[in-house]
Amino acid sequence: MRQPFQFGAFGRPVPSYSQMLSEIRQGQVKALELQPRQRQVSVTYKNGKRVDVPVFSENQLLLRTAEQARVPLTVRDERGEEATAGLVTNALLLVLLLAGLGLLIRRSAQVANKAMGFGRSQPRLQAEGAIPVRFEDVAGIEEAKEELQEVVTFLRSPERFTAVGAKIPRGVLLVGPPGTGKTLLARAIAGEAGVPFFSMAASEFVELFVGVGASRVRDLFRQAKAKAPCIIFIDEIDAVGRQRGAGIGGGNDEREQTLNQLLTEMDGFEDNGGVILLAATNRPDVLDSALMRPGRFDRRITVDLPDRRGREEILAVHARSRPLDPSVQLADWAARTPGFSGADLSNLLNEAAILTARRQQSSIDEQALSDALERITMGLTAAPLQDSAKKRLIAYHEVGHALLTTLVPHADRLDKVTLLPRAGGVGGFARTMPDEDILDSGLISRAYLLARLVVLLGGRAAEMVVFGPSEVTQGASGDLQMVSRICREMVTRYGFSELGPVALEGEDAEVFLGRDWVRSQAHYSLATGNRIDRQVRDLACWALDRAIAILSPRRSLMDELVERLIEEETIEGDRFRQAVEAWQVAHPDVAGEGLQVTAVASAAAPVVLAAT
Ligand code: ADP
Ligand code: MG
Ligand code: ZN
Repeated sequence: MRQPFQFGAFGRPVPSYSQMLSEIRQGQVKALELQPRQRQVSVTYKNGKRVDVPVFSENQLLLRTAEQARVPLTVRDERGEEATAGLVTNALLLVLLLAGLGLLIRRSAQVANKAMGFGRSQPRLQAEGAIPVRFEDVAGIEEAKEELQEVVTFLRSPERFTAVGAKIPRGVLLVGPPGTGKTLLARAIAGEAGVPFFSMAASEFVELFVGVGASRVRDLFRQAKAKAPCIIFIDEIDAVGRQRGAGIGGGNDEREQTLNQLLTEMDGFEDNGGVILLAATNRPDVLDSALMRPGRFDRRITVDLPDRRGREEILAVHARSRPLDPSVQLADWAARTPGFSGADLSNLLNEAAILTARRQQSSIDEQALSDALERITMGLTAAPLQDSAKKRLIAYHEVGHALLTTLVPHADRLDKVTLLPRAGGVGGFARTMPDEDILDSGLISRAYLLARLVVLLGGRAAEMVVFGPSEVTQGASGDLQMVSRICREMVTRYGFSELGPVALEGEDAEVFLGRDWVRSQAHYSLATGNRIDRQVRDLACWALDRAIAILSPRRSLMDELVERLIEEETIEGDRFRQAVEAWQVAHPDVAGEGLQVTAVASAAAPVVLAAT
């Protein structure tokens, strides 16, 4: 806001507008400069003084007056200044922008650097002789070891092979279930051969940025070539090696690029003999077929779950560093752990060692091993049940399972039945031992599955026989799930039903596994779907009927066993079988009743069905 009374630059009072006009007319003014933007005119007097007088911006009167008095009037060109000011602003903005951009680039470069920084973390290079693992640390997988022995020989003295024109293996793929010692085996090879060992989990290749994985692969091979002879080990290769262009939501670009790079590098192998690529996976079925082509992973070594002797050897390896009580027979423990992997066995000994330490004993004894096994297979023990009604019901349920598995031909062998509850809501359990033959061969007969269904439904059947159909509990829900699954597989995959020898569903019901998910969709009509559902239900109902038919006439045996179970809390398999045998002998009239389970089931019609 302007003050009513002002002073110009030199102390001269600022004239009013009309005063200025008259001064112009009187010829006191030498020059005028109009500054339209500031809405003022700068007046220069003949005596040299200058003042700025505010004016209207488009002042015709001023122009005319100046013209008449012949006072030169200039209009200050402010465009230039404006332009300069604009330029300055723009330049400032640009600088800011560039600075920001620079910052961004630096940030992402840092991230990328980190991502591509091989030197720091990956691949983990282990120098010659740094790996302590030897073949003797890997037990129970002899065939795999023998095959790999050749690789070691090659790495030690490649001349022997090249001299006779033998091509060296480029890629060796270790395939097997988790925990069977694949990673261990790879390390053992490097340890035995005494060569540098680059190891990397395939998942480490795949990053947020497309292309990082590929560049890592390139880097890995470059480093390895420089250090040949050496081993590159890629663990869990299915993380990048999956079938391309499959899975839900299309392919993963980054993964595909990484895989392509891997394939390219493997093809470029010829001229850099001495680098052997070792990879491990437990999902060979999802691997891209290009990976498995000869010339890439041309050796495929299966690492299986160990058999009984293998388990004993693995236990022995892990017992080397642990004080075992002389009474412990590792062969017994190998017999009691069918289906255990090397990792499970190592875990068993470790748990036993922990229990031993907690009990302040100096060596691992049978009891510690037994408790450890229980803990691994069933979870931690909880406080024993107090509520006697509930306890009795659980006892009948478990005795139902145990009795059926003892009586039904082809069923698994009872290991023990116990009422000691476990953390996680299990009130008790009847544990069976899977048949070693079945585990080893992987062949499951129809008779075995039928027997298994009957045993699984034994808990529910016992509840029904003893407490009546209205008192049954949901305690059998886990059993029922298992039953449904087995029934479904029997009908849709194994051709064990009236629907005949057709596979209605593929191996993989899972969708995420990299193959086309479309393939796991049903390939049958709605009508067939209905028939499948009916067959599944019929099978389950048949099994429940069988279970009830076997248990009903043996009610007194069940009562006897339940009393004993409640009193002793645990009955070992052998003593349980003795009790059953004694009762059967004492009751010859019902001894064979209901036991021709599979005979009934394998009659002309695939399954004899009972109406519900
Ligand atoms: P995988 O890679 O097959 O999943 P690992 O090689 O990582 O299994 O095995 C895990 C651990 O289990 C090993 O470190 C080792 O202690 C033990 N283990 C597994 N298999 C064996 C075996 N065959 N012999 C000795 N120990 C084994
Ligand atoms: Mg592994
Ligand atoms: Zn049950």
